[in-house]
Amino acid sequence: MEAYKGMKLSSILSEMEKQGMKNRAPVFRIKKEMKDPFRILIFTMLSSRTKDNKTLEICKRLFLRYKTANALSKAKENEIKKLIFGVAFHNQKAGRIIKIAKEVSKKGVPRTFEKMIKLPGVGRKTANVVLASVFGKDTIGVDVHLHRISNRLGLVNTKKPEKTEERLKKVFPKRLWKKINISFVGYGQTICRPVNPKCNICKLNKICRYFAQSF
Ligand code: SF4
Repeated sequence: MEAYKGMKLSSILSEMEKQGMKNRAPVFRIKKEMKDPFRILIFTMLSSRTKDNKTLEICKRLFLRYKTANALSKAKENEIKKLIFGVAFHNQKAGRIIKIAKEVSKKGVPRTFEKMIKLPGVGRKTANVVLASVFGKDTIGVDVHLHRISNRLGLVNTKKPEKTEERLKKVFPKRLWKKINISFVGYGQTICRPVNPKCNICKLNKICRYFAQSF
């Protein structure tokens, strides 16, 4: 499928990306500020259920103290708990990021889905987001924004993120997969927000099922 309700799928993604960048969506700061694959992996894992701005602030604090995977692998769990205080489930995540650091300092950041999800605390979404954003793999990491917006638009009609991923892989051509997460997340952080989406200024409202049903 190349279009949805007459609008090219690539244009939908470009519009989302344009608005996200124009409105300074935090997601576009991640690569610039985290820089290397290990830091992006830790950021993505820590950001689950925590806003990107908050997670960026906490990651900067963490990586100022522990600059490399090798350094973090030798950290004391109690100190990490304090450093990452503010992210959801920080107590559980502290031990996990030390274990991830140990693995990465020995073998590097995994480049396959199968190896990535063996890391503690790394699930399907984190693995796919990192593989697409860091290594340019053709995958779709479905987070809360992508799940919500693709259902609002009517691109999918799903209850669970796993089903959304499955469905989106049928809707979008493979060459666009790696762009999907960042475009939708940027849009979700700025225009199609969870509460009070800015439908009146949204250029996608003509093709949106939620808009058609609500206004
Ligand atoms: S019209 Fe509203 S609900 Fe639909 S994509 Fe735009 S902001 Fe989101």
